Amino acid sequence: MRIQNLLIVSLLALLSCQSETKPSPASYSVPASVEPYIQSFRSAAQQRNRAVSTDRLIVEFGDPQGEDVCGRCLLEAGQPPHIVLSTDAYCWEQASDNEKEGLVFHELGHCLLGRLHRNDHFANRAYVSLMNPDNMGVYATCRYPIGDDDCDKRPRRTYYLDELFDPATPKPSWAD
Ligand SMILES: [Zn+2]
Repeated sequence: MRIQNLLIVSLLALLSCQSETKPSPASYSVPASVEPYIQSFRSAAQQRNRAVSTDRLIVEFGDPQGEDVCGRCLLEAGQPPHIVLSTDAYCWEQASDNEKEGLVFHELGHCLLGRLHRNDHFANRAYVSLMNPDNMGVYATCRYPIGDDDCDKRPRRTYYLDELFDPATPKPSWAD
């Protein structure tokens, strides 16, 4: 009898959990140092008429364990999109604004835009996409500009953001 009651209570608990309008397992949670890049992602999406919700996004610093060196997007059914960024100083503290943005946008590309890695290059050897698995500083200015003629990449940001939201974006003029 007691076991039966227990089963019924468990079953009811289970049913009530499932029938409720399911609250997100966790709500929006983003470290203050990452927030500006989420905001610029939102405005980049708006500028391109892409409706992308960041409502349930979770970002935290920790050990990304594989995939990309400095970050990882964890996507599990029923769970909010979850990004882990490396605490390695090379990945964040020592990185420039554009490098940080590139890293966050790359992971958002996986987590919110459903993008996979893209490895191809243009004729000038630049990566076609921010979604390449090796270099998220594709539009970052160089840390050591002297002697590096490939350094001023700022004009490239618009292209890489266009391509992030639309992989069919035409080749830019600087690609040859
Ligand atoms: Zn990646």
